[in-house]
Amino acid sequence: MASEISLQHQLHVFIFPFTTQGHMIPMIHIAKLFADRVVKTTTICTPLNAITLSKTIDQDRLSGLDINIQTIPFPAVEVGLPAGTESVTQLTSPDMMPKFFLAVGMLQQPFEKLLEEYRPDFVVADMFLAWTTEAAAKFGIPRLIFHGTNIFSQCVAESLRINKPFESIIDDKETFLVPGLPNKIEMTLSQVPEHIQKETDSLFCVVAEKIRVSEQKSYGVLVNSFYELESAYADYYKNAMGIRAWQIGPVSLRNSDTLDKAERGKKSPIEEHNVLKWLDSKKPNSVIYVSFGSMSKLPSDQLTEIATGLEESGCSFIWVVRKMMPDEDEKFLPAGFEERMEGKGLIIREWAPQVLILDHLAVGGFMTHCGWNSILEGITAGVPMITWPMFAEQFYNEKFVTQVLKIGEENRQMRKRVIEFGEKAKRAVKEDGSSNVQFTALIEELKMSKKFWESVRQPQDHHSRPRPS
Ligand code: UDP
Repeated sequence: MASEISLQHQLHVFIFPFTTQGHMIPMIHIAKLFADRVVKTTTICTPLNAITLSKTIDQDRLSGLDINIQTIPFPAVEVGLPAGTESVTQLTSPDMMPKFFLAVGMLQQPFEKLLEEYRPDFVVADMFLAWTTEAAAKFGIPRLIFHGTNIFSQCVAESLRINKPFESIIDDKETFLVPGLPNKIEMTLSQVPEHIQKETDSLFCVVAEKIRVSEQKSYGVLVNSFYELESAYADYYKNAMGIRAWQIGPVSLRNSDTLDKAERGKKSPIEEHNVLKWLDSKKPNSVIYVSFGSMSKLPSDQLTEIATGLEESGCSFIWVVRKMMPDEDEKFLPAGFEERMEGKGLIIREWAPQVLILDHLAVGGFMTHCGWNSILEGITAGVPMITWPMFAEQFYNEKFVTQVLKIGEENRQMRKRVIEFGEKAKRAVKEDGSSNVQFTALIEELKMSKKFWESVRQPQDHHSRPRPS
């Protein structure tokens, strides 16, 4: 009887990730977090991504969670992309990007069909799927946004957009302050994304505006960070920008399973136990981990510089190498590099079991491109960072690491600070931790809303479930 009652009021969520690793990995963790709370969870994705995701999701379903996948075909050929294209990382030239976004927009109709058929209670969709707010609203379903980044970078972007403090700057050596924020944040012009510098009808300007508008009409924002990490910005986001947000991370801590930690949607060419064995042979804090995320690819001459730098540093290292072209030859490595580095450095091609590596005691530093997942994984593991931002909000994330958290400089204080944040991160996801408490509050609120609307809604009334004030 008790289970009948709880099933009657069981919430059903649609999780709809964008198809890049940096967005998909945390959203799958979020799907599992909901399923852990007895929320029926359906992840919407394209067929090739479904194959990758099904391994981990099937495992969770077998363990008793109510978690599933629904696929929507990706209309690659219809927009002139090669058959089988389903992810931004598969695009080989910038002119493919508008076609990709066109295809993403065409997912709206099949998505609406799924909404009509399954009537979930709420939708959590990636920011790039801005039209999901409108699609869900047609059926009276609230939509939460997942931006993939922290609150700090949203606040910086909004201040830059409104105040344009870079307008009079012509020399990139000149720094300016980002106005109105809780900390003094200094930037240079070249660190401001182009779509914020100039409002044009470029693809990114149009996409950014759609995201902004959809945010205003959405129920709120789910954030992969935790309150203690950016409390001043969480308060600013809510009070000054008027956005409701729930910080429920670090979501990567949901996975304690080594397989999930190792693969995370992609298989590394090296077995994780071999990487761990290699790290076991090193002293604590003696290895630097060098990785630039899932999308950044460096030209050969930069790879040569990194190889030379690593050798001259005398440090042990793990370096994840992603070339511009996968079949490009290996001439970027200085002559005899691999022989000289034998035992000292480990090169992993394309994809490494990052979380396992960062969690190992031998790793004492992380050279990162400042993707938010990487930074949060570094913080959670208590590893100080060397920042090398490359594009988009990675420049804001760098400011967060170096100017707010102060965990990106070379001294003992910094290591102590990042270890403290790592401990706070682990506390945040414990039963009475801030992320867990915020997540419970969100689920309770959605349950109350479901009960209320079930009690007042007429059968034909699908259109009005207002957002709370
Ligand atoms: N990642 C990984 N192995 C790699 C490269 C990346 O597991 O070799 C994971 C990393 O742990 C993170 C995600 O891929 O969870 C990358 O997201 P991030 O936001 O750091 O950067 P992006 O790839 O989106 O630029």
